[in-house]
Amino acid sequence: MIDLTPAPVPLCDILGQYQSLQPEIDAAVLRVLRSGQAILGPEVAAFERETADYCGAKFALGCGSGTDALLLALHALDVGPGDEVILPPFTFFATVGSVLRVGAKPVFVDIDPLTYNIDPTQIEAKITPKTKAIMPVHLFGQCADMGEIQAIADENRIPVIEDAAQSFGSSFDGKRCGTLGAVSCFSYYPSKNIGTLGDAGAVTTDDEALHKKMTALRNHGSEVKYYHKYVGWNARIDAIHAAILRVKLPHTEAWVEGRRAAAKRYDTLIEQYSLHGFFHRPTVMPYGRHTFNQYVVRVPAQHRDPLVKHLKAEGVGCEVYYPLSLHQQECVQHLGHREGDFPNSEAAARAVLALPMFPEITEAQQRRVLDVCAGYVKQTLKMVA
Ligand SMILES: *Cc1c(COP(=O)(O)O)cnc(C)c1O
Repeated sequence: MIDLTPAPVPLCDILGQYQSLQPEIDAAVLRVLRSGQAILGPEVAAFERETADYCGAKFALGCGSGTDALLLALHALDVGPGDEVILPPFTFFATVGSVLRVGAKPVFVDIDPLTYNIDPTQIEAKITPKTKAIMPVHLFGQCADMGEIQAIADENRIPVIEDAAQSFGSSFDGKRCGTLGAVSCFSYYPSKNIGTLGDAGAVTTDDEALHKKMTALRNHGSEVKYYHKYVGWNARIDAIHAAILRVKLPHTEAWVEGRRAAAKRYDTLIEQYSLHGFFHRPTVMPYGRHTFNQYVVRVPAQHRDPLVKHLKAEGVGCEVYYPLSLHQQECVQHLGHREGDFPNSEAAARAVLALPMFPEITEAQQRRVLDVCAGYVKQTLKMVA
């Protein structure tokens, strides 16, 4: 019997990047193992130099994860109890989690319904004398409106921390992420634009004093061994991950272009499949370079969860980023928010759907995704009729 079941399409292809560079990555990992230098050392220093150069920032510092990056930025800027940090409620939990972990109060500002990024027109009203930082997130690979945000930040003398975890390689107005705030935070979690096979992160900055402080914070707050200037923690990047990322870094541009080409194909195919009435496609702002860490469509809310079920049953990967706005999470009930406080974020949580996206995705795979979506639409329309 010939199996005629179409091949499954994964949401992302973690092994694709590894397989395409396997000899180099294997050699890099072995180089670290054989050197015995697993903690910091030359591999990490080279990774930091190359990352700073790629972003166009003066300094980069490797750390244990994107979450560590956010914590390093907040600690370095002395954000703590009694302080407020402005951020969007529609992002991965780590953004708000890090603010809460340093003891500060998260102050949410609703998102723009088209870009899913923080709405700059609503920021000023939330600034108080306690506001210690503004933390925009560049969601799904597209920068927040950094021109507006930086203008408000400058006027009020408040530092900006970029949560660029999903946006390595993105840019705003010709400037790369990593240079768009006082401190920028990256994650190399396997599904990010460039990912390692484990956890890692980085912070970048042009400010030498902040870089020095974050360097100390990453290593238990010490500048001189066993003398502790700050209460830091172990936020170090493993040398193995630095070595893997050094192999991957020169391929970032090609992979980003692969994602952008795939997004363009989705845009066209959605129209070809006459799904453009059903799917609201991503809005790409002219001010920057969208790197499509995710290709997220919006569907009529009543169809979202049934469509997810249908896609999964047909072997098509998909994901909902994110099903619950952060102000409605159980662990932040003490902030006293209610349903309706951030309507754009709540509406997005009900309607968004991420389709398979990775640099190597083929047109045939994308057609399969849309075949399955079209099948769902046809079937439900029949039921209605
Ligand atoms: C992934 C992510 C983080 C956290 O990164 P980790 O490396 O998983 O700790 C933070 N913010 C956003 C927006 C993310 O997508």
